[in-house]
Amino acid sequence: MSGTSAQGPRLRPTLDGIPTYKPGKPAGADAYKLSSNENPYEPLPGVLEAAVTAAGSFNRYPDMAVTGLTEELAERFGVPVEHIATGTGSVGVAQSLILATAGPGDEVIFAWRSFEAYPIITQVAGATPVPVPITAAGDHDLDAMLAAITPNTRLIFVCNPNNPTGNVIHRAELERFIDAVPRDVLVVVDEAYIEFIRDPEVPNGIDLYRDRPNVCVLRTFSKAYGLAGLRVGFAIAHEQVATALRKTAVPFGVSQLAQNAAVASLRAEEALLVRVEALVEERARVVAGLRAQGWEIPDSQANFVWLPLGERSAEFAAAATEAGVIVRPFPEGVRVSIGEAEGNSIFLSVAEAFRKTL
Ligand code: PMP
Repeated sequence: MSGTSAQGPRLRPTLDGIPTYKPGKPAGADAYKLSSNENPYEPLPGVLEAAVTAAGSFNRYPDMAVTGLTEELAERFGVPVEHIATGTGSVGVAQSLILATAGPGDEVIFAWRSFEAYPIITQVAGATPVPVPITAAGDHDLDAMLAAITPNTRLIFVCNPNNPTGNVIHRAELERFIDAVPRDVLVVVDEAYIEFIRDPEVPNGIDLYRDRPNVCVLRTFSKAYGLAGLRVGFAIAHEQVATALRKTAVPFGVSQLAQNAAVASLRAEEALLVRVEALVEERARVVAGLRAQGWEIPDSQANFVWLPLGERSAEFAAAATEAGVIVRPFPEGVRVSIGEAEGNSIFLSVAEAFRKTL
């Protein structure tokens, strides 16, 4: 019992109820890791070189203001540099967002199931998570999320596309939702997977943020840009929010390796987006293969697919591991990242065999 121990230091009792963040299982040397929505491609040589150049001076702290990357992002998105706040992965920025808005007695609303860090970082901040069940089809229930707002609500996460279902929210629905949220509640549109979206009806959160001071867009270099191991993400928000994020972030939280690699990735975007396109094509192959096998699955716009397997999820994951692919089971279903073609094909054969047992 952490809060009451007579022996050790007194820890916050709320920590007893908070699970440790569970990463996707590491893959063995000969297994395909399709459990953490990573980019399967190795770093581009130029991006690797940019990071390695910074490695020569890691006896020094990084540029705390993240100047080069911030300027590059501001120019690319046509926003003032003051509106950009970077952090230790987008999960680090998400934590800063909560610390900036919510404390004990305050509420943070999000769809559930969605990104598993939302309830954890909310509770770590001492605030109260308010999960709102997604629909049977895997969509955000935006009306129920609006109904969950109370005078204590401080922040709402909207995950578009949703992790782990891959479902998206269209422009009209999202605008209607945001415009119904009280102006003093921050709406964070988490777009970790935006580069994989091909549905033209999905809005770019940056268009929504421009004339709405209570909207913040959350992005990452971990997925399409392939920098998961370097930990760099960013938010685009109006100045008051972005300034608050700089106060609540861990100082020097973005290493110089990460800063350099992120800038190099933006400059190498053309080559990286060719890889993204290949992953989108693989996604189409996997989805078509699963549907041909008889699976009813959501139309994923991210770099993963979702099998709503319920209580048989763990069994499916075990069968996949046996076959050499590591997938991610949740109580409601299994999420499988789109990886190398060979790994995807093994997953398809596991799915085909499993389907016959349903
Ligand atoms: N948001 C969503 C929806 C995610 O799925 C993830 C990673 N799984 C993140 C944020 C965090 O990614 P990172 O911290 O690597 O930027």
